[in-house]
Amino acid sequence: MAAAVLGKPGTEHGPCETPCEHIDCAANRRQAGSICRFCERRIGYEVGFYTDVKDETQLVHATCFEDSVEWELALFRLPAARDEGRAQHTLKGDSTYESSYRHNA
Ligand SMILES: [Zn+2]
Ligand SMILES: [Zn+2]
Repeated sequence: MAAAVLGKPGTEHGPCETPCEHIDCAANRRQAGSICRFCERRIGYEVGFYTDVKDETQLVHATCFEDSVEWELALFRLPAARDEGRAQHTLKGDSTYESSYRHNA
């Protein structure tokens, strides 16, 4: 899964700089104006973003989403580190998850 990027208004891949009736431009403006649930800021232009895995109608910044994955995995590792059997299980799960994550990137 590659992050998508919106072009700035007036650039080749961005919407028109002035108000217009183009369907593509309206879609770009709507995406740029949607709010990332991690940082609660607009997606904006020239920033990588993904469709939210939890809600396909929402967009999230690529950096915010990637930070959250690391954060959740880190939380998951902490209690497992006290139990060797569970820690091994966790590591196995992590490598599977990370390889599929990279494969789709
Ligand atoms: Zn336009
Ligand atoms: Zn964000």
